[in-house]
Amino acid sequence: MFSDLYQQTVLDHYRRPRNKGRLDDTEPVCRRHPSCGDEVTLSLDVRDGVIHDIAFDGHGCSISQASLSMMTEAVKGLTVDEARELYESFRGMLKGGEADVIELGDMVALSGVARLPVRIPCATLGWETLAAALGWTEAPPEHR
Ligand code: ZN
Repeated sequence: MFSDLYQQTVLDHYRRPRNKGRLDDTEPVCRRHPSCGDEVTLSLDVRDGVIHDIAFDGHGCSISQASLSMMTEAVKGLTVDEARELYESFRGMLKGGEADVIELGDMVALSGVARLPVRIPCATLGWETLAAALGWTEAPPEHR
């Protein structure tokens, strides 16, 4: 019943991306999702276990770019551990789990992607890039 609102939220992030660009004096991390042509370059300023700043550059489908915009907005200011918990919640939602609007904020607008498995890699591209940048180990297989 919220699908129109969700679509508006996704398009808003796609058209007016938050935290777009690159940070100075950081080593950017790049990832691609070849089958869709999505690309992302993530810059991170992490100090003392806190994500002080984050920016992304990239292009691709509306789901990948909106998800990146939402992710950067959500994790800025979080500790690395908090960001990882958020990633787990987001992945849970994409597997059809509960979408907690308090925790996930605008990211609940992507909950419909759970019904479009082929687009899940688009929605998680930014998060996978963040995981690579932060050196998170892969989740155990039962959590994929
Ligand atoms: Zn895509």
